[in-house]
Amino acid sequence: MTAPGPHPLWRPYTQMKSAAPPLEAVATQGARITLADGRTLIDGIASWWTAVHGYNHPHIAEAVAAQLARMPHVMFGGLTHAPAERLGARLAALLPGTLNHVFFTDSGSVAVEVALKMAVQMWLNRGETGRTRILAFRGGYHGDTLGAMSACDPEEGMHRRFGAYLPAQLFSDLPRTPAQAAALDAALARHRHELAAVIVEPLVQGAGGMLTHPPEVLATVARLARRHGLPLIADEIFTGFGRTGTMFACAQAGIVPDILCLSKALTGGTMALAATVATTEVFSAFWSDDPAAALMHGPTFMANPLACAAANASLDLFEIEPRLAQARAIAGRLEAGLRPLARLPGVAAVRVLGAIGAVQFASPPDLAGLKSRLLARGVWVRPFGAIVYLTPALTISEDELDRLLDAVAATVAETAKG
Ligand SMILES: *Cc1c(COP(=O)(O)O)cnc(C)c1O
Repeated sequence: MTAPGPHPLWRPYTQMKSAAPPLEAVATQGARITLADGRTLIDGIASWWTAVHGYNHPHIAEAVAAQLARMPHVMFGGLTHAPAERLGARLAALLPGTLNHVFFTDSGSVAVEVALKMAVQMWLNRGETGRTRILAFRGGYHGDTLGAMSACDPEEGMHRRFGAYLPAQLFSDLPRTPAQAAALDAALARHRHELAAVIVEPLVQGAGGMLTHPPEVLATVARLARRHGLPLIADEIFTGFGRTGTMFACAQAGIVPDILCLSKALTGGTMALAATVATTEVFSAFWSDDPAAALMHGPTFMANPLACAAANASLDLFEIEPRLAQARAIAGRLEAGLRPLARLPGVAAVRVLGAIGAVQFASPPDLAGLKSRLLARGVWVRPFGAIVYLTPALTISEDELDRLLDAVAATVAETAKG
């Protein structure tokens, strides 16, 4: 086809000319997606890491239905409501230290925008101008809007072509070695007067390729940010809500960031909602008699009651069902199922952290071929770059997880052979 077709939907990250047409989903249940043609696929990635409790959990569905009948939405300027009040209090209680000040938005990217803006405005409110740059890490991904894009890996990231359009941030390697820690320390010392914050994805850089790092590396980032008086923004949009085996990844390093971003699994995969949570120290910079010192942000659908009801129900499930134990059990099975693939020629690495398992090829594979082989095996897995990965619902059954692992193992073995 040379001229664009009449189809009206522009798809995510998709070359519309060459991409295979999307599959039509008609129903979901547990870890399964049913297609219009009658096939049922086992979902290995929980709809971009959101559906931690599996699809259609009745507890969330009931909470959303009850809220829908009562009040689907009301503006948040000048008004408040029980679902948001309750969710804010619960998030504050779950998070460590004084991470008690919760700002709701509707997507992960916007949660990151708000975090960056908070950091920049915090300095402005303190009378320090000129602190407008962010230190971010190579391999990172923080979203698709302007500020978030500017903090993504500048070379490997999907936004590298936008360089001239983006604020010029400062990039560093994660401090995995003493030399890298010294380099980060030096960069922070050199640039601290123009820096507003340091942003990091704790323990795993997700969209950058499921690149994991040990808790000590995260602790080093936190220590160096503190040493140079810079707020640390933890982007837990991927890692939050059990994915790494603890409720939040920061806990494994024993650190308390100054600002923390949440989204993806916040509503258990049912609705768009995000939160940027600040410590009392950050919040205090906005606490003033000056109206201009207020945080200048406010999405139309801020704290949507349906989404807050879904998130409250999702938090109930973490309390009443053994979600974190399930995440740790999945970790063991991913380890057993994927680790042996590391021996195959053509496989560069296998990484497992909590309910995240990734196989990295030595060179980028034929992604379209890989996807169709996985599909032919009845699983919904979306390899990207040089990796194929699993981030299943934490409620996935042993049998379903075995089928996913068998499909990935067989497909990787075929691909590695060439
Ligand atoms: C997905 C993701 C985002 C962006 O969230 P959206 O809801 O897609 O805007 C930001 N940071 C991390 C770490 C993510 O995984």
